[in-house]
Amino acid sequence: MRAMLLEKPRPAAENPLRLAELPIPQPGPGEIRLRVRACGICHTDLHLVEGDLQLPKLPLVPGHQIVGTVDALGADVNGFRQGDRVGVPWLYSTCGECVYCRKGLENLCERARFTGFHVDGGYAEAMVAPAAFAYPLPASFSDVEAAPLLCAGVIGYRALKLSNLQPGGRLGLYGFGASAHIVIQIARHWSCEVCVFTRAESHRQLARQLGAMWTGAAGDPPPKPLDAAIIFAPSGALVPEGLRALRKGGTLALAGITMSSLPEMDYQLLYHERVLRSVTNSTREDVRALLRLAAEVPVRTEVEPFQLPEANHALQNLKSSKIHGAGVLVI
Ligand SMILES: [Zn+2]
Ligand SMILES: [Zn+2]
Repeated sequence: MRAMLLEKPRPAAENPLRLAELPIPQPGPGEIRLRVRACGICHTDLHLVEGDLQLPKLPLVPGHQIVGTVDALGADVNGFRQGDRVGVPWLYSTCGECVYCRKGLENLCERARFTGFHVDGGYAEAMVAPAAFAYPLPASFSDVEAAPLLCAGVIGYRALKLSNLQPGGRLGLYGFGASAHIVIQIARHWSCEVCVFTRAESHRQLARQLGAMWTGAAGDPPPKPLDAAIIFAPSGALVPEGLRALRKGGTLALAGITMSSLPEMDYQLLYHERVLRSVTNSTREDVRALLRLAAEVPVRTEVEPFQLPEANHALQNLKSSKIHGAGVLVI
């Protein structure tokens, strides 16, 4: 099978992924094999090909927003048949035994494994995943439209949940990429007002099309204080700006897997019971809830397709904020 393989992390501009011919993986007990049809590209992919994250496996096939068709079943697989369309997200497996797994916080599992990180992912024609961590996808989404739901959507949903936004509340979004363009649609569905902070005029335009009541730059005061805000951009310098825009008791959620250092800041920004919290991975229930919600809204994903061998180019465009909505490899 063809796959885009990372042998040594390098800056995206140096084309770190190489088109390679690999053996087709075989599913073990409890696993299914997918013929991959689409795979979303994510900022985490960019961080791992560039070496910002310590990699547990090399060489590695990245990709963790995978839409495919089941074409082989390992022993003891129930609930899936050949030909079923499924999605595979970032959370590849958990131990089921640690204190976090037992508390319903499997996103924090001590022995969690991640797709396209601990195991080969979806920048390939086929991949293998545990059946217990694969999900049927709503029929109303095409393969390419469904891909961004699996990480951008799921992480956005978890960030939204942890931001404590209530129906009718006022939400701020810092950065307007793949995740934020899904979150805004859910927030509008809940009759919330949304303020979007982003530099790129094309992102501001898309935000207004999707129902933002206000767009501006980080540091601009929103028209009214926010009940909740989410920072998607990996910039610690945005944290004081996000806190400054919140009302008393509001929550600022940080959705990135990495972020530059937080600057020293005045305690008054946090005082009055403002909450600052990170968002880490997601649970299987988050994935199911997001997929249900996406069909109900219905969420429209704005997608820019790339062919598999163009993965380096897609990551370069992601890095320079040139992608409109979400980038997806079509396989
Ligand atoms: Zn665990
Ligand atoms: Zn991701």
